[in-house]
Amino acid sequence: MTSFEEMGIRPELLRGIRELGFENPMPIQKKVIPVLLNDKKDIIGFAQTGTGKTAAFGLPLIQLTNLKNNKTQVLILSPTRELCLQIANDLKNYARYVDDLNIVTVYGGADVARQLKALKKGAHIIVATPGRMHDLLNRRKKIDISEIQTVVLDEADEMLSMGFKEELDAILEQTPASKTTLLFSATMPREIQELSKNYQDDPLEISVGQRNAGADLVDHFCYSVHEKNRYLALKRIVDFNPNIYGIIFCRTREETKDVAEQLIQDGYNADALHGDLSQAQRESGMHKFRTRNLRLLTATDVAARGLDVKDITHIINYNLPDESISYIHRSGRTGRAGQKGISIAITNLKEHHKIAQIEKLLKKKFELQPVPSGKMICEKRLLSIVEKLEKTEVDDKEIDPFLPAVYEKLAGLDREDLIKHFIALEFNQFLDYYKAADELSVPVEKENVRTKKSSKRDKTSKRRFQPIAEQGFTRFYINLGRSDQLTPPVLLGLVNKSTRQRNIDVGKINIQNKFSFFEVDEYYSHSVLSGFLNLHFNKKKVVVELANDDNFKRTPSNGRKKNSKKRFAYSV
Ligand code: AMP
Repeated sequence: MTSFEEMGIRPELLRGIRELGFENPMPIQKKVIPVLLNDKKDIIGFAQTGTGKTAAFGLPLIQLTNLKNNKTQVLILSPTRELCLQIANDLKNYARYVDDLNIVTVYGGADVARQLKALKKGAHIIVATPGRMHDLLNRRKKIDISEIQTVVLDEADEMLSMGFKEELDAILEQTPASKTTLLFSATMPREIQELSKNYQDDPLEISVGQRNAGADLVDHFCYSVHEKNRYLALKRIVDFNPNIYGIIFCRTREETKDVAEQLIQDGYNADALHGDLSQAQRESGMHKFRTRNLRLLTATDVAARGLDVKDITHIINYNLPDESISYIHRSGRTGRAGQKGISIAITNLKEHHKIAQIEKLLKKKFELQPVPSGKMICEKRLLSIVEKLEKTEVDDKEIDPFLPAVYEKLAGLDREDLIKHFIALEFNQFLDYYKAADELSVPVEKENVRTKKSSKRDKTSKRRFQPIAEQGFTRFYINLGRSDQLTPPVLLGLVNKSTRQRNIDVGKINIQNKFSFFEVDEYYSHSVLSGFLNLHFNKKKVVVELANDDNFKRTPSNGRKKNSKKRFAYSV
């Protein structure tokens, strides 16, 4: 197999990537690195994030940079600030042992003066978004790209669909004709072909074989919970998946430690991977996880870098990362080698805008899932135990000699009792926990405690408050009702206003006195949740929540007679 070394990557870079855990080159790296190092040909590559393309162009471009020349030699254009930071960060990591390499990021929404100062000091490599780059180049005339040797257009389709065509043209026209141009894109629309035709010279086409294989095998689930229930939700998710083998991503090392400690205390086979560990502790943890002696590993993004483990069943985002792109890196660790994988995000009700951002980048939708109830978990575990029992191999010859004593001891139990006893042995702990634990989901029966107005109303109440939406729709609760002058047209207007869209399909609407329910095309669930976040109606702060979130309760002000002492509650 061709190694990085055999492809001609220099020792200081080899040292850097080895520390990141890169052992062998990924397919795109095998294709791109030799071409850049030896032929300097233009390349058009069909590759998505997660294929290893950053190192594919990054390693040779760092290696080819003349560090004695302070002028900019590489320009990497990428659609978003997040991607720019990610790319620059990756390049800096590869170049940890390369002295005096200057990499500068240039993107909108950040202090121009600071970026100009960094550029002034000298930037061998600029990683930029097209908008800010164009601004600095043309309006402010602050960047010199006359000695650029290579331009990388990363996620070119995304840049075009974000409307950066003009900026790209303007920038590319000012780069030297002799440069090498690399264009990476996940899709190949006509506009990309044109871009390539205009700016590339007989490019080498590279396609990373299974570019979608990993991504397509991953299902993305979202569990929406109140902040205080985040850990309990994690436990339920783990309990609901008896064969889980996964990484739980946390935002900080403290959180990584806390979650692992709680899990260990609660009897789970878990440990933490974070920056405070010594190299030996880190390696021992990784080894235990790799060999499956550890089923759950909590980790930060940085600590998990280079941890390449096969057959991971679940990636759990205990907290979503600040940068959406990190979610893609996290979830890419499951669903490999033809195996299905599940990537889970546990979010609080204020974080739905993040899901919407990730979905955009991911080009895939999350499925909203109810947090498994105690009953669901118990059923699932029970079945898992029974299946295990059924599949256990029995070696008659080995166990026969012990049986007479066992039969004698169990003589008083009939077949049914025996089964019950065996199951209870394994299962009591679970049953006890979930019997005693606060239900995250409030049972639907509790609706009965709602006002006793009339039995007729009670008969229909279950249907009326049934939280399961029509297929393809998501059901929401809103804290406005008839007493707030809410009518169906007004509600439709609010949905349009909050989401800034006019074509959203709104399904069933139930207007009650002080609150209401409505259903919306599930595709727009996150737009609705984030759209309503800071909305006021008749001076009242509007609250919109998922009706199929199984762990929220309503107090009397949300629809009960004022002086009744009973608590109104509903849930899935
Ligand atoms: P990218 O497509 O460049 O975003 O890379 C996807 C992920 O693969 C990143 O987390 C990289 O750190 C990692 N990666 C890239 N090349 C290798 C390699 N040769 N071996 C192991 N991991 C790699």
